[in-house]
Amino acid sequence: MFQLDPELESFREDARKMAERAFAAKAAYWDEEEIYPTENLKLLAELGYLGLVIPEEYGGSGAPIIQGTILLEEIARVCFNTALVAQVGINGPSRAIAVLGNEEQKKRWLPGCVSGENIFGIGISEPGAGSAMTDMITSATPDGDHIILNGQKCFCTGGHVATHILVFARWGKTQGPRGIGALVVEKGTPGFEIGHPGPKMGGRGVAEVELFFDHCRVPVENLIMAGDP
Ligand SMILES: Cc1cc2nc3c(=O)[nH]c(=O)nc-3n(C[C@H](O)[C@H](O)[C@H](O)COP(=O)(O)OP(=O)(O)OC[C@H]3O[C@@H](n4cnc5c(N)ncnc54)[C@H](O)[C@@H]3O)c2cc1C
Repeated sequence: MFQLDPELESFREDARKMAERAFAAKAAYWDEEEIYPTENLKLLAELGYLGLVIPEEYGGSGAPIIQGTILLEEIARVCFNTALVAQVGINGPSRAIAVLGNEEQKKRWLPGCVSGENIFGIGISEPGAGSAMTDMITSATPDGDHIILNGQKCFCTGGHVATHILVFARWGKTQGPRGIGALVVEKGTPGFEIGHPGPKMGGRGVAEVELFFDHCRVPVENLIMAGDP
């Protein structure tokens, strides 16, 4: 059976104490009032947890991903809404940028992910592409020094408060995963609209929203990974 080593057990103990002290008391409040737990996001940043698995050269702690997972488990144990915020902040786009981004992109975005200034969402799912995400049809068309996005995403966690979205799209006619690439779209980019939060049965403090792209011109500097044409 898999067992954590003593160092990780001790990390879990500290994370559990922190989560109980910081997040338990208002856990029901965020859900009942459907309020995004901004103060908890700020606290996670202040405590250095948003940068837990980000490399040190970009302001993080460079901890292994298993520590991020343990932290998420302990937060989710007491407050699901804060865990949703932490999941996107710790495990999501910032990790993708740390692994796949170029040096300029890492310097540009990661310190803000650590401080909580940059709030990223993830745009993968579409109305016709859930589990079968390779069915996605949102298109990314290179056009000189821009990439033009057209399409629709759904279920984007915290998309209504996000400053940036890591969007996955299809580059051309290549079917399957090889045709899919990813790029960062900043809030306020012309042609990018954020839909209204949808109703939920739980985790109601952190909504999922639709994202709409209508000839949205994204600078090529924001390209993380191109799909095959
Ligand atoms: C709380 C929450 C947050 C989310 N946040 C994000 C986000 O930030 N960004 C984002 O892009 N997406 C997000 N999603 C979307 C999530 O990734 C999708 O819900 C997921 O991919 C499943 O897609 P679907 O809901 O369309 O279900 P479907 O794919 O329609 O699946 C419905 C059911 O059919 C089953 N099923 C599907 N295909 C098969 C098959 N081939 N064989 C047998 N059974 C099958 C599934 O197991 C499931 O039980 C979020 C979802 C939730 C619930």
